[in-house]
Parts: sequence; C-alpha cells; structure tokens
Amino acid sequence: MQLNFRGLQALVTGAGKGIGRDTVKALHALGARVVAVSRTDTDLVSLSKECPGIEPVCVDLGDWDATERALGSVGPVDLLVNNAAVALLQPFLEVTKEAFDRSFNVNLRSAVQVSQIVARGMIRRGVPGSIVHVSSMVAHASLPNLAVYSSTKGAMTVLTRVMAAELGPYKIRVNSVNPTVVLTAMGQKVLTDPEVARKLKERHPLQKFAESEDVVNSILFLLSDRSASTTGSGILVDAGYLVS
Ligand code: NAP
Repeated sequence: MQLNFRGLQALVTGAGKGIGRDTVKALHALGARVVAVSRTDTDLVSLSKECPGIEPVCVDLGDWDATERALGSVGPVDLLVNNAAVALLQPFLEVTKEAFDRSFNVNLRSAVQVSQIVARGMIRRGVPGSIVHVSSMVAHASLPNLAVYSSTKGAMTVLTRVMAAELGPYKIRVNSVNPTVVLTAMGQKVLTDPEVARKLKERHPLQKFAESEDVVNSILFLLSDRSASTTGSGILVDAGYLVS
C-alpha cells in the first residue's frame, strides 16, 4: 500500500520518543509537513536534524494554558495524531490524586484540547481531516497496576466515538489504534520483570508484542484516504491478545 501525504500538514503529539517519533519520521518521508509536539527539547532538536523542515513545538501538554499558548494559533492541520501519554504505575489501592490528575490531563484532556484546536481550524477552512488517537489494548483488557492509565484509554474509546459522531458531518474522521506492549521507553518501564514479560508475551496468540512500525502503519492507514469510510473505530495492534 503506497501512501502519499504530499501537500498535507500533520500534527503529532508526543513526537520526541517511541511511537510518536516514528510516526513523525514516516509522515515526513511520505511528504507531509509535520508539526512535532513534545515535552523535551533535546528530543525535538535531534528529530529536526533527522527530518529537516518539521516544525518543533516544545510544550507540556498536561498544562492547558501552556498548550493554548503553544498551539492556539498553529497553522492549518489536516492530519492529527494524539499520541502523547504517560504510564504511571500504581496498584489500585495506592492510586494518588497527583498520578490520577497527571494521567488524565496528559493522556485524555490534551487529546480533547488539541483536537478542538485542530478540528476548529479544519471546519473554518472547510476541509476534511483525519484524527487518530493512540490508545491501547488496555482500553479493553485489565493488566496489574494500570488502573488509571487503562481508564484514560477506556475513556478514549468513548471520546473517539463521540468525536466521530459530532465531527462526521464536517468530513472529519476520528479513530484510534489500540496496541499491545511495544518495547519503547514506556513499554520497558511497564515491563521491568523479564519473567512477567515472557509470560505476558506467551498469552498473545502470535507469541510476540507489537513493533512500533506495526502501530505506525495502522496510524498511517487511518490518516489516509485508504480508510475513507472508517470513523469511530479502533484498530487492535495486539498480536491477538484480546481474542482470549
Ligand atoms: P514513550 O516512549 O514514553 O514516548 C512518549 C512521548 O510522549 C515522549 O516523547 C514524551 O516526552 C511525550 N510526552 C509525554 N508526556 C508529555 C506531555 N505532557 N507533553 C508533551 N509530550 C509528552 O511512549 P510510547 O510507548 O511511544 O507511547 C506512545 C503512545 O502509545 C502512548 O499514547 C501510549 O499510551 C501508547 N501505547 C504504548 C504502548 C507501549 O507498550 N509502549 C502500548 C500501548 C499503547 P518526554 O519523554 O519528554 O516526557
């Protein structure tokens, strides 16, 4: 499947590392102009060297006012990937207010805020658009110590459906990708015990976790016209985990 995003402008959050960084590189290689939003400036500096011409924006997306200042007057955007998230592991009985608020602010509230900014621009310009939320298979499955993280992703499923319903009449599609473990910095932080990792991997019918590239390919499909009739949906990139 040969995709081409020439002439289109994309915005990717959480662009500094992992899946977000790989998404920026893929979109850049396929001709899109990319606004790369992340929290750590050095990541954006190195990414800009790899992908000349991208527009780096350094902001903490958990801060509503700072996000408004950084992105409120961003240029036209046709493709949005809400990818930034934190995974703050706590057993349910030890969940703190700080971790709860931070998780929801970064993982869910920023997706609402950035989508509002971008969708308002699309509607003003009268152009179609595609929004992809990077969610997780834990929107549909329970893993230990991830009560709050999983709840942000479960809420993202509902958000995807409501946004698809409200934005569909403007030809703006909204979907999610729902990966299993990907061994990025986040994946490695969640799975520190090799024995736990081995057992979890074995529970996947394909006997593996997902690669970042697998997730990026599904994101690109949902951003592209190849999924022109798909909205309010989610692609599982879970090596079959949820069949059991
Ligand atoms: P990652 O390696 O930790 O990268 C996350 C990126 O998001 C980093 O560049 C990080 O910047 C940025 N970010 C985090 N908080 C931010 C904030 N407040 N403001 C701006 N940028 C922020 O994570 P990943 O594994 O690539 O995860 C990407 C997405 O995939 C997330 O939505 C995650 O929930 C989802 N996912 C991951 C896995 C997995 O196993 N890895 C599985 C399922 C779903 P800093 O490092 O500078 O904070």
